[in-house]
Amino acid sequence: MTEQPRTVVRTGSPQPQRKTTSMCQHQPPCPSADSPDREAAHLVAHHPEQGWSLLCNGVLLFEDTGELLPDGKIIAPHRPLDAARVATAA
Ligand SMILES: [Zn+2]
Repeated sequence: MTEQPRTVVRTGSPQPQRKTTSMCQHQPPCPSADSPDREAAHLVAHHPEQGWSLLCNGVLLFEDTGELLPDGKIIAPHRPLDAARVATAA
């Protein structure tokens, strides 16, 4: 009679979902930088005098609504700010 060592099948080893560059420690976590909701993330730095804000998902948000993503991708300004200059034609 041979005694066979029992093979322990390990299941459910903890594997936290790895998200790309995220400084976010909020619960629930903020939208990631590649999410369409990225602007909903919390501000971690706000520099209105320089015209930019840093979100906790690594997105750099500029006051003209342009964005710089943590992977270097640039999002062009997407919110029309021309409401102020509609009246002035000259
Ligand atoms: Zn966050």
